[in-house]
Amino acid sequence: MSSLVTLNNGLKMPLVGLGCWKIDKKVCANQIYEAIKLGYRLFDGACDYGNEKEVGEGIRKAISEGLVTRKDIFVVSKLWNNFHHPDHVELALKKTLNDMGLDYLDLYYIHFPIAFKYVPFEEKYPPGFYTGADDEKKGHITEAHVPIIDTYRALEKCVDEGLIKSIGVSNFQGSLIQDLLRGCRIKPVALQIEHHPYLTQEHLVEFCKLHDIQVVAYSSFGPQSFIEMDLQLARTTPTLFENDVIKKVSQNHPGSTTSQVLLRWATQRGIAVIPKSSKKERLLGNLEIEKKFTLTEQELKDISALNANIRFNDPWTWLDGKFPTFA
Ligand code: NAD
Repeated sequence: MSSLVTLNNGLKMPLVGLGCWKIDKKVCANQIYEAIKLGYRLFDGACDYGNEKEVGEGIRKAISEGLVTRKDIFVVSKLWNNFHHPDHVELALKKTLNDMGLDYLDLYYIHFPIAFKYVPFEEKYPPGFYTGADDEKKGHITEAHVPIIDTYRALEKCVDEGLIKSIGVSNFQGSLIQDLLRGCRIKPVALQIEHHPYLTQEHLVEFCKLHDIQVVAYSSFGPQSFIEMDLQLARTTPTLFENDVIKKVSQNHPGSTTSQVLLRWATQRGIAVIPKSSKKERLLGNLEIEKKFTLTEQELKDISALNANIRFNDPWTWLDGKFPTFA
């Protein structure tokens, strides 16, 4: 099992978890159940991934068989863009809880600092980039007039009500987090960001450390996840698995793989990881990184020097949106 980090609200979170994006609904419940058997205790889900019923089913099966208790599992979800209005935050959260068949989440992130027009569940769920039939025809997204602090305060209410244990933010940049810290009552415990050797985000990571906000890396393997999405930038960016520096570091630690080096580099920087895989061997390999080897300071530096500020997940490219989240 993964080691635990203590969050700024005292809750303990596994340093290595399983990402649930793109896990096919047909196999998802079983994969979550099998992952629990392998030792996974954190599941990083989201309304937007469209598989929350199945993630919940897998977790509940493991609990009902006595493999784990609810307290042993760290369940994560994310509030999608269409539900930022305070009237819809708790509604969306309760939909997630109901789909999963759980009473509370350990961590609930704001998925993006972007507010879309509300879409009722019966019209389309999860809505994705949908903000109405007319918009869909035009390839357009209509935004909602909701500042992030209003969304955040609605989430603080959900903590008070015991529906979530902690609040996180995802895809937020420094100045927005700084502003949030000035206005919040309950501090965010975590920031989830795209993070890999092509995008190391040193200042953001340091800022979070200074403020006791746990950084969680997504897409730790860089372009890999976005090749599946057929993203041109991912197809034309050299894979990190074949990178000379990563290969050399892996060779320095016999028995390690390049994928494990990528994850270990992050966890040794104090950053939690949530790699997604459906293969048993990889799931085990990704989970056991901490036990297997430790990178030297020089190796950590050499990997960090690969930074090229290449970002694969950028809302600037969403339909006609032009959202300057990272501009
Ligand atoms: P990832 O970096 O985990 O890569 C997944 C890909 O790598 C898959 O194709 C998988 O088969 C492959 N892979 C996994 N283990 C491997 C190994 N040991 N060797 C070789 N290949 C391996 O990418 P991801 O899914 O984008 O990110 C992980 C999780 O982060 C997601 O599942 C999701 O939960 C979360 N996420 C969050 C956001 C956000 O906006 N907050 C965005 C993207 C992902």
